[in-house]
Amino acid sequence: MKVHEHQAKEIFRKYGLPVPRGYPAFDVKEAVEAAEQLGTWPVVVKAQIHSGGRGKAGGVKLAKSIEEVQQIASELLGKKLATFQTGPEGLPVSRLYIEEGTAIDKEYYVAITLDRSKSKPIIMVSAAGGMEIEEVAATNPEAIITHTVEPFIGLRSYHARELALKLSLPKNLVNKATSLFTTLYKLYIELDASMVEINPLVLTKDGNLVVLDAKVDFDDNGLFRHPDIMDMDDPTQISPLEVEAKKFNLNYIKLDGNIACMVNGAGLAMSTMDTIKLAGGEPANFLDVGGSANATQIANAFKIILSDPKVKAIFINIFGGILRCDRLAEGIITAAKDVSIDVPVIVRMEGTNVELGKKMLQESGLPLITADTMWEGALKAVEATKRR
Ligand code: GDP
Ligand code: MN
Repeated sequence: MKVHEHQAKEIFRKYGLPVPRGYPAFDVKEAVEAAEQLGTWPVVVKAQIHSGGRGKAGGVKLAKSIEEVQQIASELLGKKLATFQTGPEGLPVSRLYIEEGTAIDKEYYVAITLDRSKSKPIIMVSAAGGMEIEEVAATNPEAIITHTVEPFIGLRSYHARELALKLSLPKNLVNKATSLFTTLYKLYIELDASMVEINPLVLTKDGNLVVLDAKVDFDDNGLFRHPDIMDMDDPTQISPLEVEAKKFNLNYIKLDGNIACMVNGAGLAMSTMDTIKLAGGEPANFLDVGGSANATQIANAFKIILSDPKVKAIFINIFGGILRCDRLAEGIITAAKDVSIDVPVIVRMEGTNVELGKKMLQESGLPLITADTMWEGALKAVEATKRR
């Protein structure tokens, strides 16, 4: 789960990290009140969306007067902001963050995430922080200093100090940076985050260290331990189909292609998408219906998949383990009665009760295309999209 910058900063503040003063605002009036409350100029008006790259997209602006706050706020609110991370569709701006301005001397980068290849947390710091960090990572990766954390030891002061020294920070700020890094690691672990990022961490003109931008992503599987964080969820930032899928306990992620996938198990779902790509197609979604899906859930999954207007074929790839093939067939038949399926459906299933499942589908009279292997199914799905 993602949260907004102002929420991330609220969490950072609780951990004692150096965050500038600021207030969220949901309309122009609140934005003005926030600026008045801050009582210093300039203030920064920041669009709150679940994406980075806002600065370059015009979503972060300095205001030097109440009039400018009003003007910038009314320009941003209610519009969609498209960044290089959101794609051309953009995300709706329904709240702003009004923050006291900071005089920047230098911008640094700090992030902690999981290094999946090592199965350990990794902390990355760089003296080349700011809006070009993706560029730095691509063209000059040695400018990013990394340290892999041994989970049972944690990020100790001496590790953090070494990172601070490698950043060539002013000597008098090394202690502050050291405790900032260890605190950030503590937050990352305690809150079951999957990533925390400060970009930029700023050295101010008056020689201080300040968190200017904050990002925290949470591991959904740990959210039940943090109800207060769960409350920070903002469904306006997720595609409506994904919100719908959540209600039915389906793991759905919308993608840009035209072949919808209905699969059980995340691993099989991933390889199904790969196979579609290999066959020359583009998946329209990731969908894991789970191991214990029932007929209703299958029917709901169908509805969600079909409400994406781009979809030209559906590829159902199921390994019947806990979810038996006959139950899947029942789900497909129920769904077909409920929603009109006007695109070709390719079914490949294997496993428990596969014969019964196939028989049910045949006898249903539904115009289904069957496949015996995943590869055959993918090829047939790609072919089906070309015919339309
Ligand atoms: P992002 O583009 O979505 O990552 O948004 P950021 O919060 O990182 O802001 C983008 C850029 O705006 C930063 O890298 C800074 O250069 C600039 N910026 C943000 N806040 C301030 C501020 O208080 N003063 C100044 N001078 N620049 C700021
Ligand atoms: Mn940033």
